[in-house]
Amino acid sequence: MPIKLLTEKEGWACVTCDGGCGRKVELRAKKIQPATFYICDSREDGRKCFEATPKPPLGFCRAIIYGAAAHFTGLRHEPMSATEAAAALRAQEILASGLARLAIEKAAGVQIEPK
Ligand SMILES: [Zn+2]
Repeated sequence: MPIKLLTEKEGWACVTCDGGCGRKVELRAKKIQPATFYICDSREDGRKCFEATPKPPLGFCRAIIYGAAAHFTGLRHEPMSATEAAAALRAQEILASGLARLAIEKAAGVQIEPK
């Protein structure tokens, strides 16, 4: 559990980064916004910590809450609506076709003009 209430400071809590870097932040518990995971978003490890958190399950998306706990960013897994799920599927198809085109271009040594 990344949130731990501090017994020595009443009303305060300590939030630990879920990315595994070991960074912590102390703040008033009532100022913490609910999230599934908290990451430090530090310049050195922020990207690594973000990628270390579990991906949302199928049918869920990841909402990003900046400043969820002081300077820590919150990640919340939320169920997607049918419209959002269709948009995510379209985006994955566009990404897949783009990657396929790049692979073909690299293998053939030519550049294909997009339609
Ligand atoms: Zn971290």
